[in-house]
Amino acid sequence: MDTDVIIVGAGPTGLMLAGELRLAGVRTVVLERQSQIRDIKKAGGLSGQILQLLRYRGLLERFEAASTGPSPALRLPFGGLHLDFTLLADPPMQVLLLPQPRLERVLDELARELGAEIRRGQEVVGLSHDAATVIADVRGSDGQDRVTARYLVGCDGASSRVRDMADVPFPGTTYPEIQRLAEVTVPESVTVLENGDLEVAGMGRIRFGFTRTERGEFAVGSTNPERLGLFTSEEEAAEYADDEPLTLTELRDSIRRVLGVDLPLGEPTRLTRFTFHARQVERYRDGRILLAGDAAHLFPAPGVALNAGMLDSVNLGWKLAAAIHGWAPAGLLDTYHDERHLAGERTLLHTRAQVALRRGHDPAAEALRELFRELMRDEQPLRRLGAMIAATDIRYPPPEPNPNQHVLTGTFAPDLTLRTDQGTTSVAELMHAARPILLDLGDRPDLRETAQDWEHRIEIHTAETDRRPADALLIRPDAHIAWAATIDEPADTAALALREALSCWFGTPRKTTDATPGSCSA
Ligand SMILES: Cc1cc2nc3c(=O)[nH]c(=O)nc-3n(C[C@H](O)[C@H](O)[C@H](O)COP(=O)(O)OP(=O)(O)OC[C@H]3O[C@@H](n4cnc5c(N)ncnc54)[C@H](O)[C@@H]3O)c2cc1C
Repeated sequence: MDTDVIIVGAGPTGLMLAGELRLAGVRTVVLERQSQIRDIKKAGGLSGQILQLLRYRGLLERFEAASTGPSPALRLPFGGLHLDFTLLADPPMQVLLLPQPRLERVLDELARELGAEIRRGQEVVGLSHDAATVIADVRGSDGQDRVTARYLVGCDGASSRVRDMADVPFPGTTYPEIQRLAEVTVPESVTVLENGDLEVAGMGRIRFGFTRTERGEFAVGSTNPERLGLFTSEEEAAEYADDEPLTLTELRDSIRRVLGVDLPLGEPTRLTRFTFHARQVERYRDGRILLAGDAAHLFPAPGVALNAGMLDSVNLGWKLAAAIHGWAPAGLLDTYHDERHLAGERTLLHTRAQVALRRGHDPAAEALRELFRELMRDEQPLRRLGAMIAATDIRYPPPEPNPNQHVLTGTFAPDLTLRTDQGTTSVAELMHAARPILLDLGDRPDLRETAQDWEHRIEIHTAETDRRPADALLIRPDAHIAWAATIDEPADTAALALREALSCWFGTPRKTTDATPGSCSA
């Protein structure tokens, strides 16, 4: 066996997974067909829960240092409208400006520092597997090669070859519009007004945000005062070739068709064209082959894909490591599909709703948008939509449905400030090493004693916190709560439930008289 895990694709999902696997001590080889990181401007930055997770890994500052500028005012597109989070004192989501090539460079450096082997210029062209091994056939500049491993993860993007070779269906919809996205310098004849509107000499005013016409959508907005961010969306019968770059003339023509004006344009600093899809694989796992990121899901709205893909990797990393290290309880690896398919479905729910919201030119469609505009000015719906976009509202279902589960079970662990015998720390700090943790917040020797049988797998910490949410939290390496004890929960029920949760997520106890491994299956 050449390695434990082969990752196909060194995009953000594959590189994030490589780092997570190395944190868990798994030998990892990343195979990437491109010989170097390409300077293609795809995502402009990171947003949502992945930022919180990076902070929990102690890495956020490193990503912030690579950022191209201060976080923009939080007015995010949503179905052809804008969600204005500046209305809230504590917005439910954050954004970090970090163009994708820079993001990939930071992730690449981190994965290498942790010991991942990243082989560029290596295209996976064949795949076979048996009960114990996966074999990848690789084509590179030096000729053909074969790499063997125990698992292979396809992080190879929207047109995933791994997905095709594993014969995993990718059902869904491709929408008929072509979206054109550009950033240009502000020409002399255009003044950007304080509210974001454009005053164009000899033409008049063009409103900030989305303008809808019979021919499609136009939007203006920017995160950089020196540049104009421009966008058009049109339904077009003509197809475009992916490798044919968008030109300024093509953009100008599209603006003329949609808006009916010849908008003066400065020098382009970004020109991209893309199509929206709503697709999700039926299975995230097929034996020893797994899928993550764009290879597993595509969403028909901007700003959510990186968050979803990198969070797939965080969910998968520790589970795959448990399987490699030989202690994974039965069903643990399948919870990757259960949890991340559910998360993908939720992202599809709001991104598909955005398609319905932005399409349509009749009075009914206008009324729907007006209604949404009104709702989005209220705090509660704004918070709720923010949590949906950030994917912070996802609660993973317990492997065994149990009505007595604590409300925190399956949620992302809150960043509590913790007072311990060694000083003050926090949940975020304890999660740096990506180790599971039993956090005793109610001075519960009964629970600490129960957990001691799993001390080879988990860390046990006793701490005090203000307004403790539970007597104890069992936190997984991906910062999700596996189990929680209610305040003053009696020792007999709490210890028993903790024992079950520990077996379910972290395998057999050290001093076991029963060799049966735990089980995570419902
Ligand atoms: C114009 C545009 C704007 C976008 N803006 C945003 C945004 O603002 N926010 C956001 O969250 N997302 C955005 N996205 C989406 C985001 O770029 C993708 O979701 C993200 O790149 C997916 O990451 P990934 O690692 O899953 O796949 P990819 O980034 O596609 O990486 C896959 C990698 O696999 C490699 N590969 C493929 N096949 C093979 C093979 N057979 N062998 C070896 N290597 C292979 C590829 O070369 C590639 O490097 C945007 C996308 C586009 C096109």
